[in-house]
Amino acid sequence: MYQTYKQQFADELQNIKDSGMWKDVGVIEGKQGAEINISGKSYLNFCANNYLGLAASDSLAKAAVEGLKKYGFGEASVRFIVGTSTIHRDLEHEIAKFFGTEDAITYTSCFDANTGLFETVLKEGDAVFSDELNHASIIDGIRLCKAERFRFKNSDMADLEAQLKEASSRPEKPENPSADVKYKPRRMLIATDGVFSMDGITAKVSQICDLAEKYGALVMVDDSHGSGVLGERGRGSVEGLMDRVDILTSTFGKALGGAGGGFAAGRREIIQVLHQRSRTTLFSNSLPPMIAAAALFVLKNFDKNFISLRKQLADNTTYFRSAMEKLGFALGGPPAGGAIHAITPVMLGEEKLAVDMAAKLFEEGIYVRGFTYPVVPKGKARIRVQISAAHTKEQMDKTVAAFEKVGKQMGIIK
Ligand SMILES: *Cc1c(COP(=O)(O)O)cnc(C)c1O
Repeated sequence: MYQTYKQQFADELQNIKDSGMWKDVGVIEGKQGAEINISGKSYLNFCANNYLGLAASDSLAKAAVEGLKKYGFGEASVRFIVGTSTIHRDLEHEIAKFFGTEDAITYTSCFDANTGLFETVLKEGDAVFSDELNHASIIDGIRLCKAERFRFKNSDMADLEAQLKEASSRPEKPENPSADVKYKPRRMLIATDGVFSMDGITAKVSQICDLAEKYGALVMVDDSHGSGVLGERGRGSVEGLMDRVDILTSTFGKALGGAGGGFAAGRREIIQVLHQRSRTTLFSNSLPPMIAAAALFVLKNFDKNFISLRKQLADNTTYFRSAMEKLGFALGGPPAGGAIHAITPVMLGEEKLAVDMAAKLFEEGIYVRGFTYPVVPKGKARIRVQISAAHTKEQMDKTVAAFEKVGKQMGIIK
């Protein structure tokens, strides 16, 4: 049977190659870190989400091993049958304490947290307002729910307000609704990334909360790139705003560890509804206890041991950005006054330029990725440099020098 379909799949693969969208995977030998080995050669790694450099941390590995010894390899079950252990409860209490929420629920990933969220809290007759640059997991999560979808321009508060106004000024749904009248939604939810990952720009969470209050909507923020990175206390783009944000989702796969694991945190009733109804928790195994143990270790020790890494990360980012700007590179990222994020996009424009430059930098021993359409808009191709607290000044200098050499070769800078 497969013979019939083999050519279809082969054609699809060829199409991916022809359109320049083929992804070659660099296979790391050994641990993730500022320096990595690929095919026996050493590279400086500037494309991981390892913002605090914890991915290869001995203290996290130790916490994970202790969790493994104490709780075993796994629960061999979903949460509600026999898959909840004290480590899950402890971690959920700690997440709630850390971010200042009433409650929390863990998932095996933030992707699962998001795909299990929307269809649980929104039904037909509800409405969701989603930023156009939201992460794929939010988009997929929203696809699974029957709520009416509104998409607003990235961080465009006027556009969001216009859509909230339109939806909320409709007539109330009567006892006998007519099929061709649009009624006021029963429930409205605004969903946004805390940090937009291709640009390193922070969402206007406070203004979103203002609009939510004005029009009676809930607010959901996915802060996967913000948690542990932004805010004086490392609580992310929602720091100081958690009394106004109803649902926070995030990951332990980036700054807060690097292995994986995700969660939703927020209002008690909403979290309880997720425990009861969310399909990615009801029909999927619980978070492996060793991962939960490492995540718990990070949160418990964050204010004492890891907060200085956040400061280091911010200093590194400022150092790298200013060196690159001095050379004449156009950097994307925060508008004047916006929070500086470790995501540092080097804007190149043309698709081919970004791909070729990344390849040349790779030859120079620098591992960075070019991002092209459709991941970013056409004509806005870029290399996304991601800074880590683990990068030394020497490593950043070497990377800047490689950018200078290749940039001049290619005529990108003078
Ligand atoms: C990385 C990321 C995710 C996925 O996180 P996982 O825990 O790896 O599934 C979800 N949302 C956003 C905004 C992300 O950046």
